[in-house]
Amino acid sequence: MRFRFSVTAVRSRAAILKGQSEVFPRTYSHPTSPPPPRPSFGIAFDIDGVIIGGRAPIGGSPQAIQRLYARDGTLRIPFLFLTNGGGIPESKRASELSKLLGVNISPQQVVQGHTPFRELLNRFEDDPIVAVGKGDPATVMSEYGFKKVRSIDEYATYFPDIDPLAPFKPWVMNETCNKKHASKIVHPSYDVYSDRVKGVFVISDPVDWSRDIQVLCDILRTGGLPGAEKGDQPALYFASDDLEYQAAFPAERLGMGAFRIALESIYNTVNDSPLKYTSYGKPNPFVFKNAEAVLTKIVSTMHQHKEMTNGGLANSFSTLYMVGDNPKVDINGARKAGRPWFSVLTRTGVFKGKNNHAQFPADLVVDTVEEAVDCILRKEGCE
Ligand SMILES: [Mg+2]
Repeated sequence: MRFRFSVTAVRSRAAILKGQSEVFPRTYSHPTSPPPPRPSFGIAFDIDGVIIGGRAPIGGSPQAIQRLYARDGTLRIPFLFLTNGGGIPESKRASELSKLLGVNISPQQVVQGHTPFRELLNRFEDDPIVAVGKGDPATVMSEYGFKKVRSIDEYATYFPDIDPLAPFKPWVMNETCNKKHASKIVHPSYDVYSDRVKGVFVISDPVDWSRDIQVLCDILRTGGLPGAEKGDQPALYFASDDLEYQAAFPAERLGMGAFRIALESIYNTVNDSPLKYTSYGKPNPFVFKNAEAVLTKIVSTMHQHKEMTNGGLANSFSTLYMVGDNPKVDINGARKAGRPWFSVLTRTGVFKGKNNHAQFPADLVVDTVEEAVDCILRKEGCE
């Protein structure tokens, strides 16, 4: 069973692989093709430890993902990437993944840990906020529509003595911080000396833990004005709560959840009232509900012609596959989300066991993502 429904003028995979100039897809209905059946399943792939290890593809991921496209480059199986990682806008991540995997991935197919922060726009759109983490956290929030955003890197430069260890950090001393960060300001921002920070968003893994914990304690204890008297704690959001994740190093690395524990432990020791925060990301069932909604939209985009003629999609997915490497995060999340989620555990990342995981057993255990896709397509009868 194939789900091709249209002919798309799209650059070929070969062209993408050669890095030729961008030609974006232009989809139109094929006058003679009958409308294809609506896919009854979809797939969500974790990225780190499944698709890539460090920066390189692993487990035959380019071949696996290319099987989800028709020969003309159109998407034939609805899928998305569901990662707790982030730090860059979804559009940029989609472009990077497209180059890496040799297919055309749309920003809609990239759901990062911080993607749901978009839903908080109503509350914080015009409030001063601070964005934390590696990459370009302020740009991420600005692209979501938040108007008064500063990265913690930029924010800290306005308080010259806020980090007493800065003179001992070569990477701080060697760069002209003010100039560098000033160039990243996207919107007219706010006066850090009088405008209280209303929200802190940890977008991705923080880089300079000692400085960030110090500055965040200052912001959070004072009601958003470092150096001022104690005040009500501004809202605090984490994009994920991963204690560990698999990167290029053979053993797991400490993730955002580890940073959260460090911040919370210190904050609760130096402050009278405990830290209040909200963590997003897998294994939160909300993330899986959101992924299902996004997959439904992707199917709708794939089947625009059919939508118009048949009056919309009434039914839902019979199966949604979560392909991940982390039992505690990916498999536990899919299990908690319940039907129609079906969990597939790979051995290319955090999990390396011979049999199934004892505490969070998956519905299926495979060696690689390539094997996962092979099993799914065979099970669904669309090889
Ligand atoms: Mg992973």
